Amino acid sequence: MGINRKSRDEIKRQRYAGHIVALVHKKMKEVVEPGISTKELDNIAMKVIHENKAIPTFLGYNGFPASICTSINEKVVHGIPSEDEILKEGDIIAIDVGATYGGMVGDSAWSYAVGKISEEKQKLMKATEEALYAGIDKMRPGNVLDDISGAVEDVAKKYGMGIVRQYGGHGVGHVMHEAPFLYNYRVGDQTKIKSNYVIAIEPMLNLGTDEVYVLPDNWGVVTKDHKASAHFEHTVLATDEEPILITTLME
Ligand code: MG
Ligand code: MG
Repeated sequence: MGINRKSRDEIKRQRYAGHIVALVHKKMKEVVEPGISTKELDNIAMKVIHENKAIPTFLGYNGFPASICTSINEKVVHGIPSEDEILKEGDIIAIDVGATYGGMVGDSAWSYAVGKISEEKQKLMKATEEALYAGIDKMRPGNVLDDISGAVEDVAKKYGMGIVRQYGGHGVGHVMHEAPFLYNYRVGDQTKIKSNYVIAIEPMLNLGTDEVYVLPDNWGVVTKDHKASAHFEHTVLATDEEPILITTLME
């Protein structure tokens, strides 16, 4: 399947979907604290999405039962919110949010510290966020997908973090996962980046091993050594000028 270039109108709607995703993250930042359950976070996120006349993209996606993914500590991605899962001081939680507005999807994940966290978790979050922005900076016409992958890999290596191999970024638009798949390490993909491509760039880095496994719930992904993992993601538009972040608050 080819990679589609978004029209002006599609970009306008997708930018608004991204704004709603950013509104959810703004709210998450306020409410993430020791004592709250991941189910409560899901309810709050759902409310923000509905109030803004958007659809929670994840709800029902391949049967996923919630509107956000909540992945604490050793959980990498795809964690299912639960009322039995309570945040505690020292945790880090990756919250992944998708909203569909006017038929277009915005997708963004952020990792949050719960209260005071260890220095190594701080370093993990810093490395993963830095890897995201290094990747975003390569999202330019004239570059190839491997330039983004390589930029993410270099930052991960600089900090000595494991790179999750089985999951990666993706084109995003009318549906959440469009072509192309984007690796978080060099694979030699020479696909050229063109203006009006929209790609979700999303490094997932681990404090320890890069190896992961899927939980018996068939969703949650966990590091094999149970060391912490972080996840940062933006939906990004390539233009002839600077890359544009789709999943930020609009002025
Ligand atoms: Mg996501
Ligand atoms: Mg994504």
